[in-house]
This record gives sequence, structure tokens and C-alpha cells, in this order.
Amino acid sequence: MIEVLIVEDEADILDILTFNLENAGYKVLAASSAEDGIRMLGPDTALILLDVMLPGMSGFQMARQLRKENRNHIPIIFLTARGTENDILTGFSAGGDDYIAKPFSINEVLARVKAVLRRSGGESTRGDVLDFGELHIDLSSETAELGGRPLSLSRKEFDLLALLARHPDTYFSRAALISSLWKDAPYVLDRTVDVHIARIRSKLGKYRDLIKNKTGFGYYVDSHNVVQK
Ligand code: CA
Repeated sequence: MIEVLIVEDEADILDILTFNLENAGYKVLAASSAEDGIRMLGPDTALILLDVMLPGMSGFQMARQLRKENRNHIPIIFLTARGTENDILTGFSAGGDDYIAKPFSINEVLARVKAVLRRSGGESTRGDVLDFGELHIDLSSETAELGGRPLSLSRKEFDLLALLARHPDTYFSRAALISSLWKDAPYVLDRTVDVHIARIRSKLGKYRDLIKNKTGFGYYVDSHNVVQK
């Protein structure tokens, strides 16, 4: 049975989600705060449905904490009443895999849960590998390979590449990248992001154009630009 953790402070919504996911054959862990959610999260939890606006720790904060503890391989779908582009990007950079805007229909939730589980490969470890042509990014071993040879990336370079690659065709502003990857360093300049991107691109060789920049938007991985053999 696939285990799903739901974190939602509104009791009605928590009940409806729990009832319907159990009905659809999932094992549900139901938490009404991020703090409880973190406590209940187990080694078999395959997905988190995470409300953003929570009393105490917010959904975004919880996602960041899990990621810091290296549990970012658990896919997260944010439940959010806010739908602005900026909030969505903040959610993604906090480690979210998808988001559902409230009010939602149960069918939509079930479809997204299924899609995210399929994308993450369920129990298969292959789901932790992102493939772009000859470039393979292994999220669980935190290594990358290009044309069968290991890519020598610094910690930050890997994290930056992995963040962009996990959300292909999604723009990340420099500010979003800084807040996600350099959160413990108070004075990081936009230029630092540019320097890291330049280093990654030079190491990617013929795949250098996989990472694109659009003025005023930010950086993104262009999945339509995978080099064909
Ligand atoms: Ca809420």
C-alpha cells in the first residue's frame, strides 16, 4: 500500500482528503500541523500533500527542512490558496513537485497524486535519476554523468543543476535560487549565481545550452534542447 502523508490544518479538508485517498487505496497519515507531519513521516512515505498556510511552521518551511535533512526525494504537492506565479516559484524552489490551488476537486487531487507518484517512479530507485540525453543526474547518490563519464561538480554546482533539472522549463529568478541554495549565507550576490551557472555550463560541454537564461525571468533547464546523437 502506498503511504501518503497529508498535512492540513482545516479539519474538514483533512477529513475529505483522508477519506478519498483511503478510498482510492492509499494508506494515509493525517497531520494538522507541519510539526506533527514531520513526526509522523516514515521511511515508507511516498508522497506528501502539504498545505502552505499552517499555524506554526508553514508548508514551505517544512519542505525546506525536509530538504535540508536530505529527505527531498519524497515528492511534495503543495495545497495552496494562493496562486500567484511568485508563490508557485517559491514553492518549487522549496522542494515542491507540484501544487494544487484551493478550492480543488477530489478528482484533480487524485489525478495529481497519481501523476507525481508515476513521475517519481514509486518504489523504483530509477525515479531518482533525471535523464537529458547523455546527461544523467542521480539525485540519490548526488552525482551526475555525461556520456558515461562522471561530471566533476562542486556541491553547490550539483545542487543548482539538480534544482533546475527537477523542474525543467520552469524559470528560477536569481533571488529564488539564492534563497533556496544559499539560505545560510546572508550576502550572496546575483553574480554568484551567474558564476556557478557559467562553471556548470562549461562542464556540460555540448550540453551547455541545456541551461538557458531569459532576461527578466531567470534561469531554466530547456528540456526541448537536449542534444540528439
Ligand atoms: Ca491552511
